[in-house]
Amino acid sequence: MEIGISPVQSPLVSPALHIPLLAPRPPRLSALGHELEEIEQSGQFSNFGPVNSRFESEIISKMFRGTGACVTVANATLGLMLAIKQATGWRPRGKYALMPSFTFTATAQAALWCGLTPLFCDIDRDTWLPDAAAEEALLRQYGEDVAVIMPNATYGNCLDLARYEQLSRESGIPLVIDAAAGLGSLQMNGDAFGRGSTAPAVFSMHATKCFATGEGGLIYCTDPERIATLRRMAGFGLDAARITVMPGINAKLSEVSALQALEKLQEIGLIARRRAALQRLYARLLPGFTFQILAGRQSALQFASVLLPNHLRPKRAQILIELARQGIGAGHYFSPHLAEHPYYREHAVSGRLEVTQEISERMISLPISDKLTKAHVHHICSLFIHACREA
Ligand SMILES: *Cc1c(COP(=O)(O)O)cnc(C)c1O
Repeated sequence: MEIGISPVQSPLVSPALHIPLLAPRPPRLSALGHELEEIEQSGQFSNFGPVNSRFESEIISKMFRGTGACVTVANATLGLMLAIKQATGWRPRGKYALMPSFTFTATAQAALWCGLTPLFCDIDRDTWLPDAAAEEALLRQYGEDVAVIMPNATYGNCLDLARYEQLSRESGIPLVIDAAAGLGSLQMNGDAFGRGSTAPAVFSMHATKCFATGEGGLIYCTDPERIATLRRMAGFGLDAARITVMPGINAKLSEVSALQALEKLQEIGLIARRRAALQRLYARLLPGFTFQILAGRQSALQFASVLLPNHLRPKRAQILIELARQGIGAGHYFSPHLAEHPYYREHAVSGRLEVTQEISERMISLPISDKLTKAHVHHICSLFIHACREA
């Protein structure tokens, strides 16, 4: 399958080369004229039409190997809002949404839209996933005031779903998984991340994710009734007779977006594997740096995340400027972490965040994309090492 990888280049990549941090590659609508005409002829452009139905059933059979059910959404943020609302009820028992501070702002915004206050916990030093002891300490401290547990599968890393299901059962607090980056991630046993989850796992298909479309998302779990409820909620809370029977919103995916999702599904295995290989090359070429420990077999990567050695922590901005000068797009997801954002200082509560603070300050995000070659990674790493030495 042609996925736009340039032919093998000489190890000497042109120094004038510009390599962006992200290079979104959604399926090309300009190459899907026939399929677009079919949508036009069907006369159905949204409302869980035939293309959307085909995508939902194909992702269940191909990616989740026949286990579970799913509903598409217009984006993962709406998916999180629906899943939280469904799990906690119209008037939640508690007031907090337990989540890591080391996540994207959408996780916390979704909780706020459901009337909840984000309660930030620390992360594990190795996997950068929410720290189990930190979560349990906050659950002991806030008890019944916690309405929902919302772990984030950091950078597509695999959460221990069995542990979360047990935690949820024992505490009686519902669970919603922010698996936004994880469409294409594989658990240790080779299953797609989320497969078999009884709690809703919310995935994103945003252009910047490995599973890139334009805007889109997916809620997956093993319970088809819950998925049916979420589908009604995503369609204004209307039932089959178009009577409002529950809280709802418009979170439906259009048929054109579903077509892009269907196309991306055909190549996700290949591109996720290729991105993971680039990440391994980064780790091999940067031996003095710290990388995320994988809890699963493979993460669906958006970029390569690397920690600067401690002594270079104050030099990050300078290193990024030098990389930019050399044509390399680099960033620092998720730094500042959420508890540092001005809005959440007023509208969230935090536990201890020492590990989050250290890791976010040392974080550098380096390019990964479907078009990036191994020669590019060699080029980026030599410039990165040089920029660190200069600093
Ligand atoms: C991308 C992302 C989201 C939001 O996904 P959208 O589809 O853009 O709404 C939420 N949480 C995390 C952790 C993400 O990385």
